[in-house]
Amino acid sequence: MSEKHFASQADLVEKKVSFDRLSDHAYAYTAEGDPNTGIVIGDDAVMVIDTQATPVMAEDVIRRIREVTAKPIRYVVLSHYHAVRVLGASGYHPEHIIASRDTYDLIVERGEQDMQSEIERFPRLFRAVESVPGLTWPTIVFERRLSMSLGKLQVEIMQLGRGHTKGDTVVWLPQEKIMFSGDLVEYAATPYTGDAYLSDWPNTLDAIAALRPEKLVPGRGASLQTPEHVREGLHGTYAFVTELYAEVQRGVAMGNDLATVYRDTYAALQPKFGHWVIFDHCLPFDVSRAYDEATGHRDPRIWTAQRDKDMWLALEG
Ligand SMILES: [Zn+2]
Repeated sequence: MSEKHFASQADLVEKKVSFDRLSDHAYAYTAEGDPNTGIVIGDDAVMVIDTQATPVMAEDVIRRIREVTAKPIRYVVLSHYHAVRVLGASGYHPEHIIASRDTYDLIVERGEQDMQSEIERFPRLFRAVESVPGLTWPTIVFERRLSMSLGKLQVEIMQLGRGHTKGDTVVWLPQEKIMFSGDLVEYAATPYTGDAYLSDWPNTLDAIAALRPEKLVPGRGASLQTPEHVREGLHGTYAFVTELYAEVQRGVAMGNDLATVYRDTYAALQPKFGHWVIFDHCLPFDVSRAYDEATGHRDPRIWTAQRDKDMWLALEG
């Protein structure tokens, strides 16, 4: 394997933004595999799901929203705690920032370390990082489910199980069968599993599928606008997560060390998934967490900027 730049530090090309209308009430802000933002337009208020990484980057989302509605942006929902999705929240001046109890707990426990680590991993995705005022703190914290009515539009904010993190939250519009999944589902983008619960993730994908979404906005990748497309997104994510974990468990059962398991897992997954964006960025983190889970670490260890670099050096030299 040739020497690789750390994480996404060499990824400097701006992506093209799409702003897709899924229904009268739902839009998707996507950018060729960069983190997505979802928009729900109710009768009297707008809800934003994941914020982009900085308040300056949020301005472009707001500009698109203003092309379709003048209603106030009252609510921001955090699909999970990762900095690249939440640190733009202040840019919307929302009345409320909504997150699950588990997401809130992760911000308390590791939000600061995660912010430093992610800024160094993805410099391009933190444009105008100096505009970030600090961590994003939820003002409404829920357990399992929060039902809201934006006028006549019903919005279900739900924790269906662990997967990408322990706090994963989806937003579901039951009248329109539209789902915003956060990083639980990716499309043609590599799932990041550095903070994941790999043995739980497939069940959580089953819980999403059981709702029979007809349209779905993934965490990364294009919006999925037909039931067939949604199934494809769910199957792809399911395949990656289960094949990654099975491969790592196999190596652990053989008594291999992390570096060997990483080499073997990379070789096994690359032919099938190597063309997905951020594959080379994610794999070292993904295998590190899978190795931990397979060797009895129930909860993911905290990634600090230093741990990131040490791990990269050990696996990528
Ligand atoms: Zn994430």
